[in-house]
Formats: sequence, structure tokens, C-alpha cells
Amino acid sequence: MDSIYWVISRDCNQRCPHCYNNSEPGAPGLTREQISRCVEHLPDPQDVSVERIIISGGEVLIWPELLFHSLELLHRKYQTGTQLWVQTNGDLLDEAMLDRLLAAHVNRIDIASMDKYHAKGTMQRKPYLEELFHSRGLIPVDPESDIQTELNCDQKVFAFWGATEDEWIGPLWPRGRAFKKGLSKAGPSDEFCRLWSGAKNFLDYHQPGSEVNIQLADVYPCCPMTCRPIGNLLEEPLIEQLDRCQQHPVYQALNQGRPEAMGETLGLSEEHGFKRSRELGNHCLWCDEFFTKHAPHLLQQDAITERGTVDLVHLQLEN
Ligand code: SF4
Ligand code: SF4
Repeated sequence: MDSIYWVISRDCNQRCPHCYNNSEPGAPGLTREQISRCVEHLPDPQDVSVERIIISGGEVLIWPELLFHSLELLHRKYQTGTQLWVQTNGDLLDEAMLDRLLAAHVNRIDIASMDKYHAKGTMQRKPYLEELFHSRGLIPVDPESDIQTELNCDQKVFAFWGATEDEWIGPLWPRGRAFKKGLSKAGPSDEFCRLWSGAKNFLDYHQPGSEVNIQLADVYPCCPMTCRPIGNLLEEPLIEQLDRCQQHPVYQALNQGRPEAMGETLGLSEEHGFKRSRELGNHCLWCDEFFTKHAPHLLQQDAITERGTVDLVHLQLEN
């Protein structure tokens, strides 16, 4: 498995207008006990190798005890066989925190806030943070590079990026506040499902290119998030969830990065999926319509993250 992206808390010091998972001050996170239970349900490294685990939020540095508890358990389970990455907006990162992160075996730090949507002061910290990283021997990498795998060494790295138009997330996923505030410009040609962070290959956990997104304990096949998760990590091991989905043609289509083809075994052609994607605006919105209108039995009804509040009735009224 290439990557497990894990949001351990949606609590954040900012409330950005484009935030896809509605993070904000006071939003919920997992408890220490829930973190422990979730780590138990992550893949056994003897059975499935995991290239990297990316811990994100919310803002993980406002709740350090939760972050460091997660890092400690993950390192204990995976040792050096799995890279640990931390994604942050950088506002609270200073010398002491960086040293603590490095001591907790973090391999890479992503400052994912370099865009016009975050608070102005966030961007202004970039020179300070760059100097700080260099002072501890970290080197910069291209945000989308997999340099550590290529180097196969312990070199610690950092990257700066954000929701800029040149990035794959530039159009903004039609999710959370980005969707609510009309900031997502995603159209039919934005094929999020086939791109980095999409659902493509999520089931192929023995192959390169497999990634899942865990929001608190809700497991999704992609970062844009289906309208309900495929399962709950507190209750079911991740690999069992993926094996269960592997049996179903709907999830097989997502695994191919073909959400428009999800309904083929239900009598809905791929052509119909493309038509609805165009009419609704983009294929993640078609994905919402498909699951709520045509395959509600595949939904986990007890989502604890924001997608659990999607207005299913409204979607079912769509033609
Ligand atoms: S985009 Fe990042 S910094 Fe902004 S509210 Fe969301 S999690 Fe917080
Ligand atoms: S189409 Fe569905 S599965 Fe694919 S990226 Fe969008 S929300 Fe995720």
C-alpha cells in the first residue's frame, strides 16, 4: 500500500473558506483510546507493507499530545518500514516542535497552506520555516515527488504547497466549505477520481498507487470522500474493509478510477454516468447522486465525519 492519509482531528486554529472537511476551532478529533484502537486495525506490516502514513487535520499541532500519541504507536507498529509524514498549516511550528517531530521519527513535513485562502500571516512564515528546516538538515522536495522512496534512505524532507491553480487540487473538491461557499470550480474535465488522492487503485493494497483516506475513524476510498465511508476503523480492520469492497462491482469501478461506470451492473451505463457528471458539474457530484439514489445499501449510515450530514433527500430529488 502506498499511502494511508489519516485526519486524526478536525480541530484547527483557522477556519479557511475552502476547507474540504470543515475543520475549524473546536471541531472534534479522536480520543487517545480511539487512536490506539484505530492503529490496531491498520494493516499488519508482516502481511501488507505500507509505504507512508500521512497524519493530518484540522491542524495537528494544536493538539500535540494526540499527534505524538499517534506517532508513537505508528512507529512502534511499523518501525522504519513505513515513513511517517505530518501535514500542517505551519502556524505553530517552531524549533522545539520540529525537534520533537524529528525525534518521533517523522520523515517528512508538508506545509500545506501556501495559498490565498489561508490567513495572511501563514504565508509570511515561509522564510522562517525554510530556515528552520535547513538548520535541522531537512531538504526541500517537490510536493508530488516520492523522493524518499527513490533515495531509499533516512533523509528527512519538507515541502511547501497549497490550493493554488497549478496544483491538482486547484479547482477545489466539491466538498465542505469549498462547495458550500461556491469556491469549487471543478468541472466535468476534473477527473479527481483518477488523480492523486482519488479512488483509483485504492483496493490494490499489494500494488503501488494504493491510497485510502481515513477521516477520524471513517474510511473513504479517496480524499474528496464518497458521501458515506466504506467502513469504520474503530470496528473493522482496514484490510477487511478493502477485501469486502473488492467483491463489489461498484467499488471495482472506483478502483479503476471510473466513477461514471459504477452503475453498469445496476443497468446504468457509463454514458449515463458521464451525462449526469456533466449535468451536475463534475464526477464527484455524480458519485454522490449514484450512492444516494441508486445504491444506498452500500452506504455506511453511521458516518462520524461531515459527509454524514450530506442531504440525501435533496440528492434523491435530483433527476
Ligand atoms: S484548510 Fe487547513 S488550516 Fe484551513 S481550516 Fe482546513 S484544516 Fe484548517
Ligand atoms: S468520484 Fe467518488 S470515489 Fe471518485 S474521487 Fe470523487 S468522491 Fe471519490
